[in-house]
Order: sequence, then structure tokens, then C-alpha cells
Amino acid sequence: MLRGRYEADWVIVGGGFAGLAAARRLSQLVPTDRIVVVDAQRIGWGAAGRNSGFMIDLPHQLAGENYGGAQDHDRKRIRMNRAAIEFSASAADEYGLQRFFVRAGKFHGAATEHGLRSLRDFEGHLIGLAEPFQSLDAADLKRITGTDFFIGGTFTPGTVMAQPAGFIRGLAEGLSGRVQLFENSPVISVQTGKVHTVKIAEGEIAAPRLILTVNGHLESFGFFKKRLLHVFTYASMTRPLSKSEQAALGGEPHWGLIPADPMGSTIRRIGDRIVVRNTFTYNPDMSTSEKQVAQIGVGHVRSFRARFPMLGDIPMEFRWGGHLCLSLNSAPAFGEIEERVFVAGCCNGLGTVQGTLYGMLVADLAAGSNEPMVAEALNEPAPSRLYPEPLMSIGAPLKLWAMHLRAAREL
Ligand SMILES: Cc1cc2nc3c(=O)[nH]c(=O)nc-3n(C[C@H](O)[C@H](O)[C@H](O)COP(=O)(O)OP(=O)(O)OC[C@H]3O[C@@H](n4cnc5c(N)ncnc54)[C@H](O)[C@@H]3O)c2cc1C
Repeated sequence: MLRGRYEADWVIVGGGFAGLAAARRLSQLVPTDRIVVVDAQRIGWGAAGRNSGFMIDLPHQLAGENYGGAQDHDRKRIRMNRAAIEFSASAADEYGLQRFFVRAGKFHGAATEHGLRSLRDFEGHLIGLAEPFQSLDAADLKRITGTDFFIGGTFTPGTVMAQPAGFIRGLAEGLSGRVQLFENSPVISVQTGKVHTVKIAEGEIAAPRLILTVNGHLESFGFFKKRLLHVFTYASMTRPLSKSEQAALGGEPHWGLIPADPMGSTIRRIGDRIVVRNTFTYNPDMSTSEKQVAQIGVGHVRSFRARFPMLGDIPMEFRWGGHLCLSLNSAPAFGEIEERVFVAGCCNGLGTVQGTLYGMLVADLAAGSNEPMVAEALNEPAPSRLYPEPLMSIGAPLKLWAMHLRAAREL
């Protein structure tokens, strides 16, 4: 925790994927500058360490029915996502984090004919993009996952499966020689000026350049008001499966599967444990509650049992919810919003990659490097305005409800 007054050349608020990418890139661009990162919690305690770990190179539109978008847009997305993945790969190599960063590819699984049609549409889209994939049938998915729940699927090879907590904490530790990091230090106010002052309960940091990488909390600092959609998603993790339970399950010990319908369940097996993630809720106050997490956990158990009846009543040992920041037009919050105040946030549900991308690019922008992707990022639209109230508070939960209903057995 930060106590007292610090002076630095750069202060970065938020130590998730975006903040640490910005810090690492700055440490490459301006190696002798003093760089400080400050986070409200322990690094990795929030969504950065508690996500499903899919670092996806391909388009991943959550709002549609099959993840794809317009071809030109998707080509650019793939190129930029891959640049971010390579930036993370170089960090994994430099800091010895390869075990948390595995180029395993991702599976998509369909549980319904409707889901299978969406996946075959997605494959058609990949053919148009000249991207490799493999079509899978029910037997392939059973061989991999152990369950006959899925009637077909698709494998795409470019996704990295991360162990997010290990990776993000390792990244912070790797940076610690070059970057001063303060955890458990919530920033309570920011005063901008010739030298910006970032205040924490028992201290402050003064720096001429400020980078805000606080994702949806950009709004808490007064930026992008009524433009950010605060959505939570939830996960439950089983206790370790015994050797006999693993034998009853069959399949491979490590895999990650994304549902055919973006509103369905993501399932990941990590050796002797299985994680189920599903359900999106609209929480404009940027918080969830134990009650909400527990209610959604009941649905996780239902989804788990539907897929793994051979495992009976295995209890969930951990359960959590985390904050995603989406925008209506899927645009990130990126750029210089006041003189020498820069932002990178709102990564639309794919923050492990796009947080990294906009984090590294915001450092390039702020340090004045000639990285060509900065211009591309600046040309992207800003997050569009939300609908006026009460349309959002009534409409957003209704829309999510309808989308979850559409997912049916994929949920
Ligand atoms: C259950 C779940 C599963 C997910 N699965 C995936 C997945 O498989 N793949 C994927 O790409 N994404 C996934 N996500 C989304 C992903 O976790 C986020 O998009 C990503 O963490 C965003 O990175 P970020 O750095 O922009 O923001 P964050 O990770 O949210 O980091 C922002 C940081 O800012 C800090 N902060 C906020 N306010 C303050 C303040 N006032 N003072 C100081 N610090 C502050 C926070 O403590 C936080 O550490 C998932 C999320 C959840 C919850």
C-alpha cells in the first residue's frame, strides 16, 4: 500500500492486462523514466486474475450469434489481437511464465442443431478470412471432453490458454525491477494539471503523465459517462476430482471450450478441476453481491450436471463474479482525453488480449512512438452513447434475458 508522496514520470492507475501492458511497453520505450503502477486491490484479485483465460486471436463478438463481424473489420481485429498475443508471449518468455501461457487453441462446442448451424456459419466466415480451423463431430468432442453432451464443434488453433492469475502476477513480478508497483491502494481522486496528482487514502503520486487503465471504472473518474455498459459474468470451479472421478470422466486433462452461442457456457478443464462460466448481468453500479453470485451458481451446477452426469454431485469449491466493460458499438475507450491524460479500457469481454493491445498502444501513443497500430486505434470509433433511462435499466436486463433464452441448452 502506498503511503506518503511519490514523484514519477508516469503514473498508471489500474494493474490489470491493460495497465501492466502499458507499464511494460513504457519500460521498453522510455527505460530510464520512473514508472509507477497503482491498483486498488492485489494484482490479479479482480477480473484480470479470475477470468477463463482464453486469449483469443479471432473475432469474438459477444453481441451476435456466431462471434463473427464484417470481414474487413475482422481481418484488422485478428492482426491486432495477434500483435497483443505476441507481446504477451515475449513477456512470458522474458519472465519464465510459459507454464501459464499455452498455445493450445480453443474448442467451440454445440449442444443443439441451432448451435451447430451457428458454428458452421462461423466456419464459413473463417474460410472467407483464410483462417485455419477443424470441424469436429460428437465423437471428437467426447474424446476430448469426456462428455457426449456436444453434437459437434470447431477447433481453432490460434488461441492461447492462459492461467490468468499466474500470468498476471508473474507479469507484475517480472516488471517490478523496472516499475514501482503499489497494490491495495485505491485511487480516490485525480487532479489534472501541469503535474497530475493521484490521491490515495494515505498518500499521493505526482507525475506529468497519467494513464488510466481501470476498465469500466473510467466512469468513476468522470470519463465516458453514459457510454460504458457494466456487465458481470460468473464462474464456478469444482473441487479437485479424484483419480477415479477423472477415469469416469475420460477425455483429455486440459482443454477450453467456448459455447456455440455466445450466451452459453464456457467450460474449461484444468487437470483435476473443471470451471464453468456463464450468465451475464447488467450491474450499472459496478458491483455484484454474494447473493447474486450464489443464485447464478445454482445455474452453474445445472449446466455442469447436464454436461457431466458421470460425475454426480461434485461440489463447486469456488464461485465468483467479475466486471466486464462493454460498449454498445463494441468500441474501446482509447486515446488522450485531456492533456497528458491517456486511457485504455472497455475491452468488450476480451480484455486479456484487447486490454493488452490497447494498454501497449496507449504507451506508444503517450511516449510518441511511431507504432502504426496507434493510428488504427485512434481511428476507431469511441464507445457510443447508451440509450436514455429508463430504457437502459429496463431494456438491458430484458435483452440479456432474451439472449440467454435463445442460448437454450447451450447455457
Ligand atoms: C469470469 C470471467 C471470465 C472471463 N473470461 C475471459 C476470457 O476467457 N478471455 C478474455 O479475454 N477475457 C475474459 N474475461 C474478461 C477479462 O477478465 C477482462 O476483460 C480483463 O480483465 C480486462 O482487463 P483490464 O486490464 O482492461 O481491466 P481489469 O482487469 O478490470 O483491471 C482494471 C484494474 O483497475 C483497478 N482499479 C479500478 N479502479 C481503481 C482505482 N480507483 N484505483 C486503483 N485501481 C483501480 C482494478 O482493481 C483492476 O485491477 C472474463 C471475465 C470474467 C469476470
